[in-house]
Amino acid sequence: MPARATVCLSFDFDAVALWLTTFRATSPSAISRGEFGARVGLPRVLDLLGARGVPATFFVPGATAELYPSAVRAIAAAGHEVAAHGDRHERHARLDYEAEREVMRRGAQVIEQVIGAAPLGFRSPSWELGLNSIAILEELGFRYDSSMMADDFRPYRPRAGDRISDDSQLVLGRESRLWELPVAWELDDFPYFCFHPYPYYVGTRTPDEVYGLWAGEFDFMYRAVPGGVLTLTLHPQLVGRGPRLAMLDRLVRHMQGHDGVRFSRLIDVAAELDQDAGA
Ligand SMILES: [Zn+2]
Repeated sequence: MPARATVCLSFDFDAVALWLTTFRATSPSAISRGEFGARVGLPRVLDLLGARGVPATFFVPGATAELYPSAVRAIAAAGHEVAAHGDRHERHARLDYEAEREVMRRGAQVIEQVIGAAPLGFRSPSWELGLNSIAILEELGFRYDSSMMADDFRPYRPRAGDRISDDSQLVLGRESRLWELPVAWELDDFPYFCFHPYPYYVGTRTPDEVYGLWAGEFDFMYRAVPGGVLTLTLHPQLVGRGPRLAMLDRLVRHMQGHDGVRFSRLIDVAAELDQDAGA
């Protein structure tokens, strides 16, 4: 029997790659914020998941797998999914076809070298896909993407080959073989918890405020979208602080208190959808 509701906890284990590439940081103090994710945030997150018996998905840039291989092996050893997140946390929309393909191939290759299994899922760094990304993911044998927002709780087939005409109209491509496991900024800890002076991010919401928003999203899905999939996006370097982790633990227990709720890795959702579709 399909679950009444599925919850996927996903963690973008960016560590220092976010600061080095996306924010172009050169200051050791900025970079150390990413290091906190590897030293402190990740072990705490793994403890929480273990204590609650919750499987999860971790998106890891190649650079992070290279720098912190034992941390990435610990994720896999605990039964969680390790999925791809670029090589150096690049901005995919700015890459041409060949460069993007190479970045995706390299990022996946490092993960395979570190844990002995190729990643089957992908999330674009900063949720910035390029127009070629879905076609490249298909070509490289990925099964799903988790970077888009055309739905909230229902996975769908993302299109490959969309383009934008010279007069700024969207020209629709074909349906791809992948699944899109949709995300939302509202369901991401980054806008709520990442304070950064330059470029400026506010990120000073309290754990209680965020609990209210996320529990509200879950309660709505549970009531109104039977069989829905809720994907939360979290960052060990942000959610790894004590009060935020306590909030996450409270949220997991709130969800687990409902009948017919299961926690799943994203790849298991994609595999089940493929099976239902007769793929
Ligand atoms: Zn990221």
